[in-house]
Amino acid sequence: MIPLSIPNFEGNEVKYVSDAVSQGWVSTGGAYVSRMEELLSEYTSSYAVACQSGTSALHMALYDLGISHGYMVLVPTLTFIAAVNPVTYVGAEPVFMDCDDSLCIDPEKIDEFCITECKYDGQNLIHTKSGKKVKAIIVVHVFGNIADMEKIMDIADRYNLYVIEDATEALGSRIEFGRYKGRMAGTIGNFGALSFNGNKIITTGGGGAVLSTDKDKALHIKYLSTQAKDDPHFYIHNEIGFNYRMTNVQAAIGCAQMEELEEFISRKNKNYQIYLELLEGDVFGYILQFRDNIRSNKWFYSLVIDKEKCPLDIKELICVLSKAGIETRPIWGLIGEQKPYIECVSYKIEKAKYYSERIINLPCSTNLTKGQIEEVVNTLRKYIEK
Ligand SMILES: *Cc1c(COP(=O)(O)O)cnc(C)c1O
Repeated sequence: MIPLSIPNFEGNEVKYVSDAVSQGWVSTGGAYVSRMEELLSEYTSSYAVACQSGTSALHMALYDLGISHGYMVLVPTLTFIAAVNPVTYVGAEPVFMDCDDSLCIDPEKIDEFCITECKYDGQNLIHTKSGKKVKAIIVVHVFGNIADMEKIMDIADRYNLYVIEDATEALGSRIEFGRYKGRMAGTIGNFGALSFNGNKIITTGGGGAVLSTDKDKALHIKYLSTQAKDDPHFYIHNEIGFNYRMTNVQAAIGCAQMEELEEFISRKNKNYQIYLELLEGDVFGYILQFRDNIRSNKWFYSLVIDKEKCPLDIKELICVLSKAGIETRPIWGLIGEQKPYIECVSYKIEKAKYYSERIINLPCSTNLTKGQIEEVVNTLRKYIEK
C-alpha cells in the first residue's frame, strides 16, 4: 500500500521522548515545551506558543481578539472544518467565502462582499441584512500554498478587520517577493495557527501553536492556554483560561521533527517535481501549481481531474486506486453546505464548488520514492486514460 501521508520519524524522536519520560516531565511543563517554542520562534521569526492542536490555537486566537456573540467572521468554504468550528465555539457566526485558483480565500470576492453586502461606518463593518458586525477574516493557507496576503491585509485595514491565518498546512511556506518578502505563513495577520497533527508536515502526535509578532499578545495566549494562572502557588485566576498547553512528551517529538523540517520540505518539493514531470501532457487532468511568489512547503499535491475526459467519477477513481494499493483522498466538501452551517451566509461560491468536485490528493509522504510515484502515475493512467 502506498499511503497518502504518513509521519516520518527518522531523527531524534525516540531519544527525546525517552529522555522526557525518564526525567518524569511528561505533562504540560518541561524543557521540551520551551525548546519547541524557541525552535518555532527562530524558524518563523515570530513568537510561538505551543498548544494542544491547531483547533485550540484558532480558538484561543479568536477568544483573545474578543470575537464573540453577535459578530461575523469571514471564512473560506473550501477547507477543513476545524478552520471554522472555533468561530462557533466563541459564539460568532461564519460567513462562507469562495476561493481563487490557489484554493485559498478569494480577496476579490471578500472585497465585493464588503462593498455590496455591508456598510462601513468608519469603525465597524456591518452586514446589512443581519445588522451584525463583521470582525475578522480567517485565511487558510491551503495545502502549503499562501493566500494573497497583500490584498487581504489591505481589505482588513480598510474595514478594520482582524486577520487570523490558519497556517496549519503551511509551516515553512514563505513569501519570496513583494511587500511581505521573507515572511513565513502565519506571521502576517494578528495571529497565525499551526498544527502538528499526524498528517501535517511535522507532527507531535497531536499539537499546535499560536504565532504572533507581538510579544505581549503571545504571552497572553500562553497565559490563556494554562488556565489563566496569575500566580504559580496561590491559584489566582483573573480571566477564564483553557487547558490547551502542549505536553512535554508531545514537544519532545516536536523538537526532533523541527530538526528535520527543512529536509522534509526539500523531499516534498522533489517529489512534487517528479509528479509534475510524469503527469505533464496527460489529458485527464493536471497537477495544481503553487503560487510563484512563494517558497511552498508543498505539503499536499492536488490532481485536478478533467471530468469530461475522465471515464470514472471521483469516488470510483479513489476506490479503484485503493484496490490497486494507492491511497488518495478527495478534497473537502464545502463547509457552508455541511449540516451545522447550512443556514449560514455563503457568498457567491463558484470556484470552490468547481474544485471541490475535481480534486484528489495524491500520496505525498516524505519517504515516498520515485518508484512509488511512477507506480501512482502508471496506475492513474491505466484506469483513466482513454
Ligand atoms: C489540520 C487542520 C486544522 C486543525 O488542526 P488540528 O491540529 O488537527 O486541530 C485546522 N485547519 C486546517 C485547514 C487543517 O488542515
